Formats: sequence, structure tokens, C-alpha cells
Amino acid sequence: MTYNNGKIQVEKKGITFGEKLNNGYNPMIEGVRWTDRYAMQLEKIWQYIPNWLGQIFVAIAVFIFASGIQGDWISIVVHLFKHIELHNQNYVQNETAAESSGWWTKDKNGSLLFFMTVATTSSYAIYFGIGGFLHWFYYVRQRDKSHEWKCQPEKFMSPELERHEIMIGSLSLMVVSSMSGIISWYAANDGRYLKLYYRLDEYGYVWLFLQAPIVFMYQDYLTYLTHRFYHYPLMYKWFHKLHHKYKQPTAFSVSAIHPVEILNVQLILASPMLLVPVHWILFYIILFYTYYHGIIDHSGITFKAYWWQPWQPDAIFHDNHHQYFHVNYGFNIFIWDKVTIDTTIILPKEQL
Ligand SMILES: [Zn+2]
Ligand SMILES: [Zn+2]
Repeated sequence: MTYNNGKIQVEKKGITFGEKLNNGYNPMIEGVRWTDRYAMQLEKIWQYIPNWLGQIFVAIAVFIFASGIQGDWISIVVHLFKHIELHNQNYVQNETAAESSGWWTKDKNGSLLFFMTVATTSSYAIYFGIGGFLHWFYYVRQRDKSHEWKCQPEKFMSPELERHEIMIGSLSLMVVSSMSGIISWYAANDGRYLKLYYRLDEYGYVWLFLQAPIVFMYQDYLTYLTHRFYHYPLMYKWFHKLHHKYKQPTAFSVSAIHPVEILNVQLILASPMLLVPVHWILFYIILFYTYYHGIIDHSGITFKAYWWQPWQPDAIFHDNHHQYFHVNYGFNIFIWDKVTIDTTIILPKEQL
């Protein structure tokens, strides 16, 4: 950005999505072109926002990205209404949600098509809207200061690869957001096989406090083992290689995974709902925590874990996995790599 006679001039920098592709219009990329179109306006607004407030905006943006990317907020709305109704009835006769004669047992609460449409549309809006904002904020606006924020400051993905990532990312998003649509539709129209519960003391306070770490460790360890499995030569060749095309991942890489693999991971994350009683609020807090770190870990930005997360590796941990392949298979608990087959490396960005 330069100043000329008191007027602000914004130079275009970084990867832009404005160039025409060989085949012309591409709906997947059109979604991100707004960052090109409004870069100057965004920059003009941003200069009035103090740095600390800008950082808060970024954190909020990542949180909205995490909570909305797969359309799970529709499930939350359904469970919130169930929660309110069950508490208003004061859990008459101590019945569980599945035994209740509440509105969700009537099978008339919206079609599958309706839930899937809302889930997929909202997830695309968030992927392109918030993903585009993060791209602009770091990869365009602060591109010339990459040593201050980037895990691999000297290396950027080519524009072709970035477009490839957004195309695969948006295709796989269709798979997982459709799955969220099916789950929310089922929760709103029966849901008797979902073991989510709504009253804090329904399964005792001991289980209430134990379930969060148990569910979190179960999901994370299974995802870690699955990730290792996808690194076996044939599995790698057929499925996982696609995700490893991106050696300098960005926030868009979070769903740029082969549809079979992303569905596999999504089923692991959803499985506790069918296996053990989990309070619905805790279940979604854990899910959003996992989504949040999925974005942080792929952002390519040197985000650090907070003091209250001693189990959580910094973003550089998974960035190193993309750069060096056969290291750091874990996601949200770094000890899995140490206690299974130790392949841990954490290279500070200065050594890269
Ligand atoms: Zn991998
Ligand atoms: Zn990855």
C-alpha cells in the first residue's frame, strides 16, 4: 500500500483468482474472486482498524469458519430446540429424548432435501466468505512480510495448485456438508438411535466430566491411526496423495482431501453419537474444537497453541507433515506420534 498526495493506492499482490482459466468460467473459483474484486475496498476499511482489533476479527473469522464449514449449525439448532422443549416439560416421567413424544418424533419436520440444501449452501458461503477473507488478510495483504507469519516463509503454492486446492476442497465439502444435512434431518425427524442427551445429570456427573476427554482422545487417536493407514503405499496412491499435493497448505486445504478419505474421517468424528451417551453441547464443543484446529493446522500461519492446551501441537506440526510427509501424523494430541511409532519432528520456521 502506498500513499500518493494523501490518497491511498493499493497494489495488487499475492495470488489472485481473477485470471481467466483456460476453460473460462469456473464456479468453484468464482466463489473466491470477491477477494480480488474488493481487495482495495477492504484495504481502505482495514487501515482504520487498530491491529489488536484486527487480530480479534481474525480469531472470530477462524471460529466462524470452524463452526460453519460443514453445516453443523443446523444440527445445533435442532438439538437446541429439543433441549428447550425437554427442559420446559421438565423431562416428564423421566423419559429420555428418544422415548419422548416431542415434535421430533412426528417425522414431519422438514424434508431431507431441505436440510441438505441448507447445510451445503451455508457451508459454501462460509468456505468462500471466511476462507477468502483469511486468504486476503495474510496471503495478499501481508505477503511481503511472510517471515513474520508464515510457517514456510520462502515458499508459496503456485496459483494453479491453489485453484486445484479450492476445487477439490469445495467438492469434498459437498460430501461432508451433505452428511451433516442427513444427520440434522434425522435428529429433527426421530433421531432415536442418536445417543446425545440433554439433561446434565442424565448419566451422572462422573460421566459428564469424563466424557469430554474420552470422546476427544477416541476421535483423535482413531483419526491418527487412520491417517497412518492412508500412508500405506496403495492407500496413499489411491486416496491420500491428493491431500499431499499441497506442500504449503492454506486454510482451503482443510477439506481438500479425497472424498472417500474425508468421509472416513467424518464418520469417525460422528461415531460417538451412535456409540456412547454424550451431552449434546459437549459433543459439538469437541467437534468445533477439532474443526477449528483443522483450519489452524492447515493455514500455513505460525499459530501457537494456548497455555491451556498442553496436549495441542502448534500449527507448524502439521505444516511439517505436509512438507516432510513421513513425520507428525497426529492432529490435536501430539503424544500419539511419540507413543505409537515415534516420527515426531518440530522444526522451527527459521530452520526450514
Ligand atoms: Zn498425510
Ligand atoms: Zn493435512
